[in-house]
Amino acid sequence: MPGRILAPGFIDLHVHFPQTDVIGSPADGLLPWLENYTFPHEARFADADYAESVASVFLDELRRHGVTTALTFCTSHPASVDALLRESERRGLRMIAGKVLQDRHSPDGVRDETEQSLRDTEALIQRWQGRGRAGYAITPRFAPSCTEAQLRGAGELAAQYPDVWIQSHVAENKDEIAWARQLFPDARSYLAVYEGFGLLRERAIYAHCIHFDDDDRALMRDTGAAAAVSPTSNLFPGSGFFDYEGARRVGFRHGLASDVGGGTSFSPFHTMLAAYYVGREGQTKPGLSLSPGNLWWQHTAGAAQAPGLEAVVGNLTPGCEADFVVLDPKATPCWRARPATRATSTNCCSR
Ligand SMILES: [Zn+2]
Repeated sequence: MPGRILAPGFIDLHVHFPQTDVIGSPADGLLPWLENYTFPHEARFADADYAESVASVFLDELRRHGVTTALTFCTSHPASVDALLRESERRGLRMIAGKVLQDRHSPDGVRDETEQSLRDTEALIQRWQGRGRAGYAITPRFAPSCTEAQLRGAGELAAQYPDVWIQSHVAENKDEIAWARQLFPDARSYLAVYEGFGLLRERAIYAHCIHFDDDDRALMRDTGAAAAVSPTSNLFPGSGFFDYEGARRVGFRHGLASDVGGGTSFSPFHTMLAAYYVGREGQTKPGLSLSPGNLWWQHTAGAAQAPGLEAVVGNLTPGCEADFVVLDPKATPCWRARPATRATSTNCCSR
């Protein structure tokens, strides 16, 4: 195809398929957003037919935007995982998904029960891990939504199944952090709560990682855990900005994610542009000017390193899966008018 760009399929390191319908719902912050929009909506996924219909829309949207690999949260209902991974299998996408664990501080309809939630998680691991392009992620929603018994059980499963992924949220919002400190007073930090339950290791992906100190960053580096940087979500609920300078200085893995529906778009181009803004803000002025090449790397080859898939997807090197997208660098009037040397810039027009 002359004039087209052949590029690795994009990797979204953190997204919630059930939140496809709540994108762009305004709230005063993370916790009211969960209470007013997300939890009532996710309760609907007890209905397997509804879960399947949303899974179809979600996967078609990912594919339309060139995203071929994603780590996605489902809801607390095991059938939501089956719905998503069945539909993904039909489309040949690489999806890593997990049933959300949340046995406290959650309303009826989404709250699960400790022992049953762990049995369900193990059954889903046995059904989906390594089946075709599917993978399973043990998925505590976030520490405040889980009892110690549930987190301990999750850590035991993580030790028993080392090839399985782990995904959760950490240090997104200051109210959330204060709550985690109150619930887990013996932990050095919010991130250290997860360490205490054996949930920081290779193949563990934590969304946000905004309000970290250098000890947290070193803990990420030393355990091999990775951050899913979610820039449109940083900007929309106004939680803060990922500190790229800190991540580079200490050196822990990170890559890009949409975090739909706290994030506002499935488009990797929107996400890369938002990451540029977040990099400019940073925690220390004047911030960084992330290059288009670096932003693209964070959504492909760099992102692949986070879940340990660097020899599998995110690149066109020999041995990788033939997982690629074809991009038209003249897809819009704005792009057609641009000199060829600037065709890969992300700061003008999105696709
Ligand atoms: Zn999220």
